[in-house]
Amino acid sequence: MPTIYMDHSATTPMRTEVLDAMMPFLTDDFGNASSVHAPGRRAHDGLEKSRNMVARLLGADAGEIVFTSGGTESDNLAIEGVVAADPGKRHVITSAIEHHAVLNTCAELAKRGLDVTYLPVDTHGLVDPDELRRALRPDTAVVSVMMANNEVGTIEPIRELARIARDAGVPFHTDAVQSVGKVPVDVGELGVDLLSVSAHKFYGPKGVGGLYVRAGTRIRSIQHGGHHEGGLRAGTENVPGIVGMARALELACEEMPREAKRLRGLRDVLEQGLMERVPDHRLNGHPVKRLPHLLNMTFVNVEGESMLLSLDAMGVAVSTGSACTSGTLEPSHVLSAMGVPPELAHGSLRFSLGLVNTADDVEYVLEKLPPIIERLRQMSPFSTQTAQ
Ligand code: PLP
Repeated sequence: MPTIYMDHSATTPMRTEVLDAMMPFLTDDFGNASSVHAPGRRAHDGLEKSRNMVARLLGADAGEIVFTSGGTESDNLAIEGVVAADPGKRHVITSAIEHHAVLNTCAELAKRGLDVTYLPVDTHGLVDPDELRRALRPDTAVVSVMMANNEVGTIEPIRELARIARDAGVPFHTDAVQSVGKVPVDVGELGVDLLSVSAHKFYGPKGVGGLYVRAGTRIRSIQHGGHHEGGLRAGTENVPGIVGMARALELACEEMPREAKRLRGLRDVLEQGLMERVPDHRLNGHPVKRLPHLLNMTFVNVEGESMLLSLDAMGVAVSTGSACTSGTLEPSHVLSAMGVPPELAHGSLRFSLGLVNTADDVEYVLEKLPPIIERLRQMSPFSTQTAQ
């Protein structure tokens, strides 16, 4: 049975063009990019060409790109690194719907005695810029608000939030892990100081990412070792991974206008079809300000995990939220922050479409999922409540 993969927000398959670009650096050009001999120089050349490429595609200068092991490390470095550079500032602002890479970094800072303000979101998952204005303090070290949410796809008003923070002289970080390669991301236009990227979300390899650090931003390394990456990230660079990330980003940016339109079309057919065929549903996330490939819906009186497993048995891979909260019994912190009651939060599914998906895949899901939900509802102890 072929798998219909609709979980591209968790991770994406690596493209063959990306593997082709990486191959020389996994074989002949294996040198350490810090070595001065010819193999080292070849690796260094691959590394710096990739840095230039990633910088150009994000609207940055090459010297502003720090390569890391992925989105989690980039988020840690951005927040902890800026806090470490200005130890007198003891306050951090983030939002209630961040990925755990940000939330747990802030929790760690709270354990060390810093104050953390969690900005609330509205029912669509949007942060209100006025809330940020009110939360800023003279001792605020950094503000971190994600560009697009990984569970519901809501796109935050980053340009406005960044301007408010910068007007107050506070560095602004955005986790753009779910946005890069999906929607246009230009650090200059956004006006952010720090921006996190992860390659495996846009058909690149796992275990590699980047952090944009605007020139002049006060930041310290949080990892101790050699003087790699401008002294901000010690450790021999993962040259094959970095080359793969640059190639993946190049392809994603080239194809973005066409692919975003195609995926939005497929997503809308899926959304509309489920709304028509399944009574008692709810759309999670902003109806318009949302990533084009993502759909998160709640189906009343059904368990998300049961729907997921039933779809899996039919060859369809989706998720109940973020890959990190799948497998726990806690309702999603994102849906909770949006005011979705726990019993409804438990009945939600996230579909995230990608390059491999076709109209036939959407038709297949529209054929299979409504009867699954009907069957599960009949088995549900709450089913009598759904009759009307
Ligand atoms: N930030 C967001 C919004 C994510 O969705 C993810 C991954 O799911 C991460 C950070 C972590 O990225 P990585 O898997 O590269 O560590």
